[in-house]
Amino acid sequence: MKKIIIAIDGPAGSGKSTTARLVAMKLGYLYIDTGAMYRAVTYLALKENILHDTSAIVERLKKSDLRLIYKDGVTTVLLNEEDVSEQIRYPEINANVSFISKIKEVREELVRAQRKMGESDGIVMEGRDIGTVVLPHADLKIFMVAALQTRAQRRLEEFTVKGKALELDEVKANLAHRDSIDSSREINPLTKADDAIEVDTTHQTIEDQVNYIVELARQRMVKTGNEN
Ligand code: C5P
Repeated sequence: MKKIIIAIDGPAGSGKSTTARLVAMKLGYLYIDTGAMYRAVTYLALKENILHDTSAIVERLKKSDLRLIYKDGVTTVLLNEEDVSEQIRYPEINANVSFISKIKEVREELVRAQRKMGESDGIVMEGRDIGTVVLPHADLKIFMVAALQTRAQRRLEEFTVKGKALELDEVKANLAHRDSIDSSREINPLTKADDAIEVDTTHQTIEDQVNYIVELARQRMVKTGNEN
């Protein structure tokens, strides 16, 4: 069967990352988490104390080496050789990432890098603008949604596992705030591509979501294979 390109978009906490990673594992595909890249730029801006200086952020980003290493189902994020995989998940990153991802030049840099990563078949790329902007030619586009309460509970559990005590209301407010900025920004906002399949994960288990998408992928693989 021919390998295909799968784009998965949706708001924070919709189950995208876990689902995309497991779909990639099941299919033996490469998994690319584009949110990790915007998070790494946010980390850079906070670390260098340039959060409000757009041109300094862009300049530092252009001089930086940002790499996603995917091995055995795990993504390692390297920023100038520093492993920032843990730090980019901290609440202070969540609180600021949507401001960084609004910056036009940051998006241009990252989208260019993502398109390069998406040149080969056999990938699952996940983010906000993958099906609409980064890989509009993707063979299968999924748009994942879930109720805010469910998404907040999922995020809270992730933080609790990591030993970070947060309040549900705090997590909920952050998600709602990020969704609103991500969906209303001028450049590449979070929107469902016309040809994307919407998957509501509010009442679904991860296993169900993964199996459903893998099944859709297999159908596309057969179809794409027959077309070639
Ligand atoms: O997916 P994740 O929650 O890690 O993404 C973090 C943030 O990065 C999002 O809230 C959004 O602002 C930004 N993002 C984006 N475009 C993408 C992926 C993420 O703007 N393709």
